[in-house]
Amino acid sequence: MIVVLKNPVSESKREELIAWLRSKQLQVHLSEGHYHTVLGLVGDTSRIDTDMLEGLEIVEKVQRISEPFKKANRKFHEDDTVITVGNTQIGGSGFALMAGPCSVESREQLTEVAFAVQKAGATVLRGGAFKPRTSPYAFQGLRGDGIDLLQEAKKETGLPIVTEIMNAEHLPLFENVDIIQVGARNMQNFELLKELGHTDKPILLKRGLANTVSELLMSAEYIMAGGNENAILCERGIRTFETCTRNTLDLSAVAVLKELSHLPVIVDPSHATGVAKYVKPMALAAVAAGADGLMIEVHNDPAHALCDGPQSLTPEQFAELAVSIRKVREALV
Ligand code: PEP
Ligand code: MN
Repeated sequence: MIVVLKNPVSESKREELIAWLRSKQLQVHLSEGHYHTVLGLVGDTSRIDTDMLEGLEIVEKVQRISEPFKKANRKFHEDDTVITVGNTQIGGSGFALMAGPCSVESREQLTEVAFAVQKAGATVLRGGAFKPRTSPYAFQGLRGDGIDLLQEAKKETGLPIVTEIMNAEHLPLFENVDIIQVGARNMQNFELLKELGHTDKPILLKRGLANTVSELLMSAEYIMAGGNENAILCERGIRTFETCTRNTLDLSAVAVLKELSHLPVIVDPSHATGVAKYVKPMALAAVAAGADGLMIEVHNDPAHALCDGPQSLTPEQFAELAVSIRKVREALV
């Protein structure tokens, strides 16, 4: 349920109302927007008399939120959520350009790619240390050593890092990771989401291969319900009957998510298309569609990459793309 307060509202009356709502065992989230102050109520609101609330001098209107996601709901929080990571803002007017190899393979590879993407304008360095591979015989990632290498690259470049977690037991290894990624295959690993909800790290939550927008939002809700409001949504393509691309990039999800939720939305055109030459057009389309950022796979030697070489851009291709992204963003203003 949301309670929209009159503008302006006296702070003491507002605090009195919040205290009363809390005494009814409700969690109260205060959101002060440009035009309105909104109280988001979570818990059993069935016993709250909405007419009585609406009759209060400081209340403009009361609305029940019919959607099952509450904290991720834009009705709950009118303004875009902005998550600050290093010098980068994700959401709002900021644009996050996350780039790096699919997998961390070696110090040389990561350092070369990290400096190259930074020079081109990337704001976050990506790299998989724990890799969810279809085959148990495929490269599984450098695991803890991969995270150490990411930390070294972070120190050298100053770029914040994002890397995937597959098991909550690995959380201690992620202490110095700036953004924890939950991959598509774990989007509905609810126990993992609950654990991440108890951290204060930004969580990049990728949409599952066969999951709806509502299910993505409900997974974000799991993280937020635990107290971690720093969820970032990521559209990375879904399974369809199409075989020319690895997945089908659902760009309409960007517009829908931006309407339904205040959380930042990132697009990953690398996994969505699976083909390096399609990454640029889809990346630019995502910018035009209103994405708050992109995640792009970049490798210094795609032909010999241990994972996802065919969809990886070279540093030169990435630098070209970054210029075009800036132009599209300028055109949108
Ligand atoms: C990745 O980002 O490396 C990855 C495995 O992505 P996804 O979970 O979207 O397949
Ligand atoms: Mn990959």
